[in-house]
Amino acid sequence: MFEKILVANRGEIAVRIIRACKELNIRTVAVYSEVDANSMHVQMADEAICIGKAPASESYLRIDRIISAAEIADVDAIHPGYGFLSENAHFAEVCESCNIRFIGPSPRAMSALEDKAVSRALAKKAGVPTPPGSEGVVENEKDALVIAKRIGYPVMIKAVAGGGGRGMRVAHNDISLVKGYHTARTEAEKAFGNSGVYIEKFIENPHHIEFQILGDNKGHIIHLGERDCSVQRRNQKLIEESPSPLLENKFRKLRDKIGKAAVRIAEAARYTNAGTVEFIVDNDGNYYFLEVNKRIQVEHPVTEEVTGIDLVRYQILIAAGEPLQHSQSDIQMKGHAIECRINAEDPFDDFRPSPGRLEMYYQPGGRGVRVDTHAYAGYTIPPTYDSMIGKLITFGKDRREAIDRMSCALGEYMISGIKTTISFQQAIMQDPNFRRGVYSTAFVEQLLGGARRELIEEKT
Ligand code: ADP
Ligand code: ADP
Ligand code: MG
Repeated sequence: MFEKILVANRGEIAVRIIRACKELNIRTVAVYSEVDANSMHVQMADEAICIGKAPASESYLRIDRIISAAEIADVDAIHPGYGFLSENAHFAEVCESCNIRFIGPSPRAMSALEDKAVSRALAKKAGVPTPPGSEGVVENEKDALVIAKRIGYPVMIKAVAGGGGRGMRVAHNDISLVKGYHTARTEAEKAFGNSGVYIEKFIENPHHIEFQILGDNKGHIIHLGERDCSVQRRNQKLIEESPSPLLENKFRKLRDKIGKAAVRIAEAARYTNAGTVEFIVDNDGNYYFLEVNKRIQVEHPVTEEVTGIDLVRYQILIAAGEPLQHSQSDIQMKGHAIECRINAEDPFDDFRPSPGRLEMYYQPGGRGVRVDTHAYAGYTIPPTYDSMIGKLITFGKDRREAIDRMSCALGEYMISGIKTTISFQQAIMQDPNFRRGVYSTAFVEQLLGGARRELIEEKT
């Protein structure tokens, strides 16, 4: 087993990883940027090394500095968390060549799934449905028009290197397609350093359902059930839950089917360690592969709560060469878990980021309540990184209990000094359609757009 691990990340996920290391009796090294000197992960780790200035490009994305820190601290392995370098195959290769274990998929598996258009082709080959669309990258607007004519509007133009809900555009006709094609390429080049885009049929009002995967170095791959992440704003997840109400109530046979499809894709990529295979499911029960997230995900706790399996611990064990301790039939989902992402954003001002000092901070607790966060009273959220303050997860014997607990917990959460999304999450917990488990990825826009907007404001 490893003796020392460097955590190449910040915020709540760095704290989460350090906790898993402590339980395994592994020493930890934090790296941090100048603006993060007072951050919780720095205080919790056994050692901490400053790797540069605030912008990620000068710190958390600097492979050379992170490797130097790893060598100075003499670590056995690096955990990349999510975001930053977590899905960078080159970084994983550099780690290996320096004799430092990368806690994540092999560089080969990562490269195989790096490009979303290539991943689509891999899924098709594995016999898994993908939304109708282009074969690979669309090279010019003429091809874009031909594909759109074949699959029919609306279509989505998506960056092959996209992520975090960015680099996507919907087109409803030829004019918006041509315009969208060029802006999408320019934006993708700017945001991801890769202008490649592909085209997919835009599935209307779908459900985002993803499967957690674990694979060891011996070729065993299992899934740990699904998460429903359909509560999204601008293609970014706000709330996640497991199991999915859609699969529980409406399409009971789909869980097994999509789970097997997810494993087939992972097998085709010879996937190792933790990963997530994302799908969208339409209202007729058709499912389509979207992409593979080659890292631990923000919403991993809901799976942990319903399966009783510690995913970060498993990541470390697998990276250290341990075989899977579970077979597919050992995996049972019990009860229900929900996660709310608590962001430093103002829901009444178009979710504008609201960084600053947490003057007062009190977090909820009690039975079935889990808070994964790096926040504390007096902590200042810098404007530099993403705006997540933490994740509130509740668990109950059924969905109703998990929702009621979430509602109480959100009510207990006290944060002053900055604006947060808590009141908005609370409004969702009260929404009759959400409570019935009837919602799609269009839910948040409907909630914000409709007359209910007033209702939310009234409540707060
Ligand atoms: P999850 O699927 O784990 O919920 P998110 O889409 O919320 O992930 O992304 C997790 C983190 O990773 C966020 O900080 C997001 O900004 C970042 N991220 C994911 N993919 C990319 C990418 N291709 N480029 C830049 N950042 C990304
Ligand atoms: P990212 O890499 O940013 O996570 P994804 O391809 O996973 O991108 O898509 C993110 C979200 O965008 C999905 O959860 C879904 O809500 C929406 N989306 C993506 N592709 C489609 C599609 N073809 N039809 C409808 N919605 C889509
Ligand atoms: Mg995605």
